Amino acid sequence: MTNKINDLLRRVEAFKPQAAAELEEFRIKILGKKGELTALMEEFKTVAPELKRELGQQLNRLKTTATERINALREELGNAAADRAARVEDMTRPGSAEPLGSRHPISLVRREIVEVFARLGYTVAEGPEIEDDWHVFSALNFPPEHPARDMQDTFFIEKDPDILLRTHTSSIQVRTMERQKPPIRVICPGRVFRNEAISSRAHCIFHQIEGLYIDEGVSFADLKQSLLYFAKEVFGGQTAIRMRPSYFPFTEPSAEVDVSCNLCGGKGCNVCKGTGWLEIMGCGMVDPNVLTANGIDPQKYSGFAFGMGIERIAMLKYGVKDLRLYFENDVRFLRQFDSAL
Ligand SMILES: [Zn+2]
Repeated sequence: MTNKINDLLRRVEAFKPQAAAELEEFRIKILGKKGELTALMEEFKTVAPELKRELGQQLNRLKTTATERINALREELGNAAADRAARVEDMTRPGSAEPLGSRHPISLVRREIVEVFARLGYTVAEGPEIEDDWHVFSALNFPPEHPARDMQDTFFIEKDPDILLRTHTSSIQVRTMERQKPPIRVICPGRVFRNEAISSRAHCIFHQIEGLYIDEGVSFADLKQSLLYFAKEVFGGQTAIRMRPSYFPFTEPSAEVDVSCNLCGGKGCNVCKGTGWLEIMGCGMVDPNVLTANGIDPQKYSGFAFGMGIERIAMLKYGVKDLRLYFENDVRFLRQFDSAL
């Protein structure tokens, strides 16, 4: 009889009903008039007198445990049901907020630049990150001994023939000229790779956007006006630009472009190092050698190209000066751009 009592006790303790009906069914099975406990009580009447004391205590304990357990379970189920009902009925309860991501600052700036040039009629062109020597250097008038071709600057994947990670997005311009005849008006955003030590001011991966416009009669004045429009759209209506002579293998003449410092209004501050100007990009008229190398007649067509680092523009817009932050993807950094959605 002790075995029966212990078995029932174990089942009572392990019982976990999902609904009130299930609990009631269990209660009748144990405590009801024809229940298992009642049957044990009947059996108790027939046991030998010397066993009555011990078995009587066991039976009492079982009855108390079963009753308490069933009452506790009933309360639990009742509360859960009331809770569910309250949740459905109370329409004024605040909703639960889903965590939202934010756009990466590099994506925000890239999108803004693309949108500005889209208004000038540019379409986006893309190209592979793994390139060959022709598309990155040769077609762009890089002389064979140019230092950019050196192992110090370029990540080579294979030698002879040279397969490498593109060091600038100008390779997309070459691919565009290969498949399209003028007029060409494209903007080329993308990741580029250079063999540099990582620091706050340099990284082995960064992002560029380049533009290319080729048609009959394209002049340096067109280039200057396009870039002035870009500068005013991105840095504000008061922004002025200036151009300084420079050198790139693929443009002639070439220039560096500065915008007036939007922090000090041109008076000079520590961001612009007291000059009132901030360097933002390189540009120039497409070198006739580049046009010829890509099957475009330089007697008939002319064009301009420009290129900028997206990190550089993001730095000027948001004041984030450490390049590494753009790649670490620390959510405490990224969350600060929520409002820019
Ligand atoms: Zn300044």
